[in-house]
Amino acid sequence: MPKIKHSRTKKPPEGFEDIEPTLLEFAQKMKDAENEPHEGKRRVESLWPIFRLHHQRSRYIYDLYYKREAISMEVYDYCLKLGYADANLIAKWKKPGFERLCCLRCIQPKDTNFGTTCICRVPKSKLEEGRIVECVLCGCRGCSSTDFTSAKKDKSKQKTPEEINIQQDSLQELQELQELQVEQTEQTSQISQIEPLTSYEKEENQNERKESE
Ligand SMILES: [Zn+2]
Ligand SMILES: [Zn+2]
Repeated sequence: MPKIKHSRTKKPPEGFEDIEPTLLEFAQKMKDAENEPHEGKRRVESLWPIFRLHHQRSRYIYDLYYKREAISMEVYDYCLKLGYADANLIAKWKKPGFERLCCLRCIQPKDTNFGTTCICRVPKSKLEEGRIVECVLCGCRGCSSTDFTSAKKDKSKQKTPEEINIQQDSLQELQELQELQVEQTEQTSQISQIEPLTSYEKEENQNERKESE
């Protein structure tokens, strides 16, 4: 049974115990993936499940904090510190175009056979139709942001007649509202929507800066 890693100097912040069972599950799955027999598989391929689990665990913690607001900043930082979520990967997810990035290696040109960036980063619309992508680095089947946003758009296109009626009624109202909002956003657009960094993220940023100096 895998144990859950704890900080030696700091006791876990309140609320950490709520996510501990899920972290344990991840730990168990990672162990299983590592112990899986490799026969018949290419070496890189045997690593794919492990990469996938690392991604999923980071995503889980990222969603809990940034999307669902279900954990405190202390719990989030604690998870980053202990490596349950990858701070560098999360930093990328905050950047437009990288919201769904599978792993950092897939945007490092030197690592790929494709010159610039990994094939899994290419939007599906830019590939031959029906082509199945599976990147050699991590087995990713495509993580371009445009694939996810266009899928969302398709869904919103399918509307019931009722929805369309309601839409037309409220269109007038909406236009008036929008005109009002334009004025307001012009005033507030100075304040950008950049998420404030948590203390651990700040630390990481500073370290990075130091390294590059
Ligand atoms: Zn990918
Ligand atoms: Zn890739």
